[in-house]
Amino acid sequence: MSFDYDLFVIGGGSGGVRAARVAAGENGAKVALAEEDRYGGTCVIRGCVPKKLMVFASEYAGMVEDAQAYGWDIKPGAFDWDVFRGKLYAELDRLEGIYRNILKNNSVESFDQRAHVVDAHTVELADGTRKTAKHILIATGGRPVVPQFPGSDLAITSNEIFHLDRLPESILIVGGGYIASEFAGIMNGMGVKTTQFYRGAQILRGFDEEARGLICEEMRQNGIDVRLGTNVLEMTKEGDKIRVKATDGTEDQFDVVMYATGRAPNADNLGLEGVGVERGRKGEIIVDDYSQTGVPSIYAIGDVTDRVNLTPVAIREGMAFVETVFKGNPTPVDHDLIPTAIFTQPEFGTVGLSEEEAAAQEPIEVYATSFKPMQTAFAGGTQRVLMKLIVSQANRKVLGCHIVAPGAGEMIQLAGIAVKMGATKEDFDRTVAVHPVMAEELVTLRQPVRTA
Ligand SMILES: Cc1cc2nc3c(=O)[nH]c(=O)nc-3n(C[C@H](O)[C@H](O)[C@H](O)COP(=O)(O)OP(=O)(O)OC[C@H]3O[C@@H](n4cnc5c(N)ncnc54)[C@H](O)[C@@H]3O)c2cc1C
Repeated sequence: MSFDYDLFVIGGGSGGVRAARVAAGENGAKVALAEEDRYGGTCVIRGCVPKKLMVFASEYAGMVEDAQAYGWDIKPGAFDWDVFRGKLYAELDRLEGIYRNILKNNSVESFDQRAHVVDAHTVELADGTRKTAKHILIATGGRPVVPQFPGSDLAITSNEIFHLDRLPESILIVGGGYIASEFAGIMNGMGVKTTQFYRGAQILRGFDEEARGLICEEMRQNGIDVRLGTNVLEMTKEGDKIRVKATDGTEDQFDVVMYATGRAPNADNLGLEGVGVERGRKGEIIVDDYSQTGVPSIYAIGDVTDRVNLTPVAIREGMAFVETVFKGNPTPVDHDLIPTAIFTQPEFGTVGLSEEEAAAQEPIEVYATSFKPMQTAFAGGTQRVLMKLIVSQANRKVLGCHIVAPGAGEMIQLAGIAVKMGATKEDFDRTVAVHPVMAEELVTLRQPVRTA
């Protein structure tokens, strides 16, 4: 049977573009890709990249005071949202151009429209054109969802936060996950009076408890009104403001309310039910270790499969798909020991098991130190950092490494290599410290603070 293409990719985000490029460029496959919005997807257009640039922008506020303490004669200035947003948009345009060119330069035919699946080998574009392919790869990502309650339509999500006409005077951020907590830090740093509601007992559920506690404490020290055990009951429009009635009995007005309480896979209206592709409880596409759905010619990668929703993971899944399908080398995706960074202020880098997860699994030793880092302590700052290792008592392997500190994301990328290689506590100890840096504490932790 002959097809129009060897591969048709639906979705031009992190995973889809990588898979299309490698299948076409390195393996000579005839590939097409459909993207209904902007190339680069969530990460480039409304996720990692613009968010990180906003983190950078927001961090300068605190630097002025520190610089003064170091003897610099500089005055705090005002943050100009318009100037920043203009530069941000230009940067995103540039990056989108790069993504488009990657596809073009690798001879991937792209269609700027929505696509859905018609049968195991056929895709229909929004204009009604049908294309056939030996393999179909669904890489349609995910989207933020706002729960329904009175006034919920007044809320924005992370999609809109990058497009505000002006910086609000006050914002309420609802949610306790990494997106909510990162944006609380960003807005606060930009000078916006920031409140964060989270209905649970502590933000950043699922991560190491000691690290979560320190991050929350530091966020409060930075001026964010973090209200735990609190949710929104209803919201009403009052002039330019939004009045929010909360479960803790309070009522407050905010200029903007941003919801970051969850995301859903983009798997609706893709024609999946008709062809027999199975979906899970959250609507995610069910795949096996090779990202293959129950329909042998249809694969899915990235956030739409709701495995580990991170850009480098979507990319890895895309590469593994190409290796499996186009190189004849079946490659499962390794989702174990993925290092990751959360760009809260302070930043959090983490890999492996939390203390709680590890203790539930086997006897452990916990090595940890919390201290005031040299740079900010010199300037009179009270911020603390945390360096923590979770060690197996049985085989001395480092099961988890958790760092709350400026630059923790950079540190955890490297510590992640050691943990992934199966380094023991003694391997860490054999490594000579780099002095004077914060991370040297990771190789000089002598006594466990506790066993469990
Ligand atoms: C605010 C925010 C911050 C984040 N920060 C980080 C971070 O710091 N680090 C990190 O690793 N990850 C981060 N992420 C997660 C990361 O962005 C995602 O994991 C990653 O983008 C997933 O890639 P993907 O290829 O699966 O999907 P996406 O990048 O979402 O791409 C899917 C693409 O498919 C398109 N599409 C959808 N349906 C169709 C259709 N029917 N037809 C055609 N096109 C379609 C969409 O328009 C989109 O462009 C963040 C996410 C958000 C929201």
